[in-house]
Amino acid sequence: MSGMTQSVALLPGGSSSNGLSSTAEPLTLGVMGGGQLGRMFVHAAQTMGYFTAVLDPDAQSPAGRVSHRHIQTDYTDSSGLKELAACSAAITTEFENVPAQALLELAKLRPVSPGADAVAIAQDRAAEKAHFVKCGVPCAPYAVIETKDQLTVALNQNLLPGILKTARMGYDGKGQVRVKDETALRDAWQALQQVPCVLEKMLPLDLECSVILARGRDGHMVNFPVQRNLHREGILAVTEVYEGHLPQALQQQAVAAARSIAEGVDYVGVLCIEFFVLQDGSMVVNEMAPRPHNSGHYTLDACDQSQFDLQVRTLAGLPLTQPRQHSAAVMLNLMGDVWFDSQGAVRLPDWAAVLALPGTHLHLYGKTEARKARKMGHLNVTGATSEEVRKVALKAAAILGIEAF
Ligand code: ATP
Ligand code: MG
Repeated sequence: MSGMTQSVALLPGGSSSNGLSSTAEPLTLGVMGGGQLGRMFVHAAQTMGYFTAVLDPDAQSPAGRVSHRHIQTDYTDSSGLKELAACSAAITTEFENVPAQALLELAKLRPVSPGADAVAIAQDRAAEKAHFVKCGVPCAPYAVIETKDQLTVALNQNLLPGILKTARMGYDGKGQVRVKDETALRDAWQALQQVPCVLEKMLPLDLECSVILARGRDGHMVNFPVQRNLHREGILAVTEVYEGHLPQALQQQAVAAARSIAEGVDYVGVLCIEFFVLQDGSMVVNEMAPRPHNSGHYTLDACDQSQFDLQVRTLAGLPLTQPRQHSAAVMLNLMGDVWFDSQGAVRLPDWAAVLALPGTHLHLYGKTEARKARKMGHLNVTGATSEEVRKVALKAAAILGIEAF
């Protein structure tokens, strides 16, 4: 928690100092950003009796449309930030590219978590990797490229074939170019307009996984089981979490690493850490997201508390208890592609056929336009066993035209 210290918990359904009086209006929790993560945060906060405020310039933003209040200004607009602070008892963010300056402004007025310092690290791949190294968690071999000289130095570091990633503003595989040789690297940096980048060695992946944890102001941490993730074209496609989906030792290693990364920045809030498991069995950290994460959407239906419930608790300074997964789960991301048939014509996905399958939970984010590679929603499949959820998820994927996994 940066800026103001929050001495009392912001209890749901009333003011924190007076308790619930017959006239007390519920406290408002604020969020920077109106995407789907903000929307699911708003739902969780409202379930617990809070009012919500969303700051997002887009009139159609998924979270803005379901929030009590929607402040439609730019993220750096000082009147918008003041309005958000004036109505909110505490403020969080739903995306890491929120300007750090905006978080600092807000933190002068209200408790903000995660803090601007943690968000600043997650915003910059170079700072992020330096933080991992500081915490003793290995990441892929890399070099920072900000100048032509650094590019030449990087060529001598055995990082090719590699992936050139912009240091800032990348998500869903955007701002990344796979490079085989020196010419490709030079061309790619030109194409990325010579902005600061990180060149990462391309690693032979066996699988990808992620850990989502929540850390309170008192340093108490709880975490979800480790998620096994399948990415396609740099975007998360499938998450699976059930008995036996990952070796125990690997899960323990991932959780320990995630905890030390959170502690290293005195993190408050929900944090996701993504890992690569290499073909030789070793594990390296990929990146961190200072917020709930797409790979944690299964928690909405398969766990007794969701990642968004924990985000509300950490923001409000409420107690954290270890979440428990009660069902095997597979999550399928529903990209805009699902709204197009094999000829490229727009169609409405056959939701009735999908929902006729047992244990299916449809989540759509209220986006009005389906575009290819745009995250429109997700489908959680829950059941008693891994065989059951995989079978149903594969059937759902076939109905929707999603590649089998
Ligand atoms: P997001 O923020 O949506 O997770 P991103 O744009 O930050 O994505 P990364 O997580 O850096 O992208 O990379 C996206 C995917 O590309 C990874 O999940 C992995 O499948 C692949 N990838 C990235 N870096 C490497 C690497 N060094 N070696 C092998 N594969 C990689
Ligand atoms: Mg990633």
